[in-house]
Amino acid sequence: MRAVVYDQFSTEPTVREVPDPQPSDAGVVVRVETTGLCRSDAHGWLGHDDGIALPQVPGHELVGRVHAVGPLVERFQVGDRVTVPFVCACGRCAECLAGNGQVCPNQTQPGFTHWGSYAELVALHDADVNLIPVPESLDAGAAALLGCRFATAFRGLVHRAALRSGERLLVIGCGGVGLSAAMIGVALGAEVVAVDIDAAALARARSIGVTHTIDSSGLDEAAVLARIAEVSPGGVQVSVEALGRESTMRLSLLALAPLGRQVQIGLFSSEPTLPMPRIIAQELSLHGSHGMPASDYRELLDLVASGALRPQDLIEHRIGLDEAPSALVALASGDRSTGVTVIDVA
Ligand SMILES: [Zn+2]
Ligand SMILES: [Zn+2]
Repeated sequence: MRAVVYDQFSTEPTVREVPDPQPSDAGVVVRVETTGLCRSDAHGWLGHDDGIALPQVPGHELVGRVHAVGPLVERFQVGDRVTVPFVCACGRCAECLAGNGQVCPNQTQPGFTHWGSYAELVALHDADVNLIPVPESLDAGAAALLGCRFATAFRGLVHRAALRSGERLLVIGCGGVGLSAAMIGVALGAEVVAVDIDAAALARARSIGVTHTIDSSGLDEAAVLARIAEVSPGGVQVSVEALGRESTMRLSLLALAPLGRQVQIGLFSSEPTLPMPRIIAQELSLHGSHGMPASDYRELLDLVASGALRPQDLIEHRIGLDEAPSALVALASGDRSTGVTVIDVA
């Protein structure tokens, strides 16, 4: 098969022929239709994930068709159109049995624990536990984005922070996962406030129905908080930090109303310091979100099927495998100008 491969961290990947993957006993091999270019692929390529062995094929947010099945797979057959959460659960441990496969200690992640989906074929383990059937009518790009960004944002907002219609939601950072959170907030009837330093990113937020956008370039913390207070007096009920920076995490917490809930989605390259006195005095809560188990996808798929949520509207670029190496390098360099990109493989 053809695949995007990196042999060293932070050196440009190449597109080349590599051996086809084989299904594990309880796993499948999927022929990739489309895969998302996600910021965590860039973190992996930069060497921020110590679970990655070299050489590596990135890619963890995908849709495709089952190409080969292992002997223990019961629920899926060759030809089925599927997606998968980027955290693939084992299905057997205590966390999995309690319905929390997103924190399974035996988890596998394509593009991290084994080769991923910037390739014609990708192996996925414990298929009966993790594969999610995808309707033929659903846009391939939209389906791919359900594997990581939309699942992480949905679980964070709905299952962790319990965002309700009519509440005010602050989203800091309007990259792919931030815009996914904003789009879900709009679909759920929240009043969304989006903050970014990039005018194009804020224009994208307005285009998906965000009512209040704040350009924070050149503003200090107090000035940004004052702008947020203008549109949301008394603070917001829920905030999402989608950048992974200490300063914006702090801003996100300080903008909360008493008893506010913060969803932390941005990944940090070093451990941040928190405004703990404020968290205690205002009884704020802080929620991590690490994808969503396959068993919880029904609500998200229903929201997409209803037309209230259109992940495909976030996609600005559809590229091929040959363009993926340079696009990954650009994403890792901090280029946020291009919006969401997906790679159409087949
Ligand atoms: Zn497990
Ligand atoms: Zn991702």
